[in-house]
Amino acid sequence: TTTVGFAASAVTERSFIMVKPDGVHRGLVGDIIKRFEQRGYKLVGCKVLVPSRELAAKHYAEHDGKPFFPKLVDFLTSGAVVALVFEGKDVVKTGRTMIGATNPLASPPGTIRADFGIDMGRNIIHGSDSVESAMREIALWFRADELADYTPVATAWIYE
Ligand code: GDP
Ligand code: MG
Repeated sequence: TTTVGFAASAVTERSFIMVKPDGVHRGLVGDIIKRFEQRGYKLVGCKVLVPSRELAAKHYAEHDGKPFFPKLVDFLTSGAVVALVFEGKDVVKTGRTMIGATNPLASPPGTIRADFGIDMGRNIIHGSDSVESAMREIALWFRADELADYTPVATAWIYE
């Protein structure tokens, strides 16, 4: 037999992924988590909450002042969201690829937004757009002690 190493446990890039209220109402939470899990990404944070307007506005601060901003905050605070943190190699960029374009109608089949959505204001899911955004968003939505530190046993079967 051969001993398989764990060098890739050094991969610590994280992305903030959130199932928005439309995704929760429509029962898509399990499918969305499953897609990231089966790709090999490690779930390190997970909680369900109804965000406050303050939290929603901070999350989307870059869009403050745009015409769609008030409706976006209304929408995000209208129900429960599932806040997730996934970890793994290139998870920010790959997460965005798995999610698709902002407009579901412009997203390729196989992406989450294309498979489940039609309108831009009902596009199911959020994913960080850069490593820097991910760090800001994770710190906004999670306390440090809400993120789990562990090594999945499958790590050596996902990373060479
Ligand atoms: P994302 O990073 O792909 O989620 O897109 P953005 O950061 O540009 O926008 C944040 C969210 O605001 C999107 O996911 C949409 O739900 C919403 N949004 C963005 N642009 C528009 C728009 O032009 N009209 C509407 N109604 N919603 C928008
Ligand atoms: Mg964005």
